[in-house]
Amino acid sequence: MNPKFNLKETMTFKFTISMVFLFISSMSLAQERTCGTDEFMREKLLNPVYKENYKSRQESFQSIYKTIKSNLREQNQETTIIPVAVHFPTADESIRPCLVDLVKDQIRILNEDFSGTNSDISNWEGVSTHFPEISTGNINVKFVLATKNHPENTDEDLLEGEPAVTIGWAFDESDSDMRWVGYQNIVVKELPGGILGYSPKGGAPNFGDTLVISNSVFGSGSGCDGFRPSEPFNLGRTLTHELGHFYNLDHTWGGDGGCGLDDGIEDTPTISGPTYGCVTPGSVTMCNNIALTTNYMDYVNDACMFMFTEGQAMIMNAYLTSIRRDWKTNVTQESTESEEPPILVEGSFNIFPNPVDKELTVSLPNEAEGIATFTLHDLSGKLIFTRTLNLENEFLQIKVNTSEMANGLYFFDFNSSAFSRTMKIVVNH
Ligand SMILES: [Zn+2]
Repeated sequence: MNPKFNLKETMTFKFTISMVFLFISSMSLAQERTCGTDEFMREKLLNPVYKENYKSRQESFQSIYKTIKSNLREQNQETTIIPVAVHFPTADESIRPCLVDLVKDQIRILNEDFSGTNSDISNWEGVSTHFPEISTGNINVKFVLATKNHPENTDEDLLEGEPAVTIGWAFDESDSDMRWVGYQNIVVKELPGGILGYSPKGGAPNFGDTLVISNSVFGSGSGCDGFRPSEPFNLGRTLTHELGHFYNLDHTWGGDGGCGLDDGIEDTPTISGPTYGCVTPGSVTMCNNIALTTNYMDYVNDACMFMFTEGQAMIMNAYLTSIRRDWKTNVTQESTESEEPPILVEGSFNIFPNPVDKELTVSLPNEAEGIATFTLHDLSGKLIFTRTLNLENEFLQIKVNTSEMANGLYFFDFNSSAFSRTMKIVVNH
């Protein structure tokens, strides 16, 4: 049996078991927020290929974060356009118009929350006296529902020019779905009781990563049949929280809890665990600190969380800069995205098209130099292609003929003294 497939099956199985455990342990806490991200990441990192890519993404992020922190680079001044695709695998096609409205409502909420233009951020004025060191943070992104150049081999009811919402179509969220590479994917479905959502931490749009959110907490308002936002998680904030993870944020208590572990963010107070429900801001003390219970990365109800901090925003802006080239372009009505030159990031490169039919192009940013090796393996580890080059200090492209290769999943490795990367490639004739 193929060892990599075997591993994936094992991972999926283990995660299901973990979910059942979380379900049992949270049965008596039905009204309390539970996020499955920490458990999900533990399982995902058991996969060596995913782990290697995760490490590489974190290295890219760290180098950008350091330059932003030491004021060598400004936080991204240009707004990143994020093309969004939402998937409802269990919904019925007959409620498409209602679901599209619900998606638009959720995207409005995301844009308000991430830009700090949500109406309830005014509550910070009264709360900030407890936190003189903290300012609220804005993230320079705009979420836009994709409407054109949809990928092929997906929901056949999804029409060109219509919003990228798939209905009754199975997105492969257990690992990743290479058909939806380059989108901010969101899968909405029923989750075992208590769990409101989970996301990869530091997600990879160019890997087809997605986050998953419960059908009872997506969007706001009266919702649609089977997708009704329910109190106290009915203001669309669960997705704000999960996207915080996708853009590399931890929970405010740093994952496993305890006062010895921090979330790695300078301005959020060190605390030992989540706060549930709704509390008077300033009233919860942990580890000799007042807990920032109004933060999106805590566990309070939707109506009681309303801000990211400046430190969290710096993390997300740096992460978004590091994955800036991963977003698919020319899939939304926004005109700004293709006019701006992409920021060249050390450790990033571009492989296209993906999925590929006849010819793969690999391009490198002009920082690349020295001896570099490119290799392509199939799923069983068999070497398909290798080339070693002495890179000149100029923009480089190499072409790989894929017309004779069998359909399927391949791994492309780039190795040089400066950085390495592994990417998944799908050959589809
Ligand atoms: Zn979470």
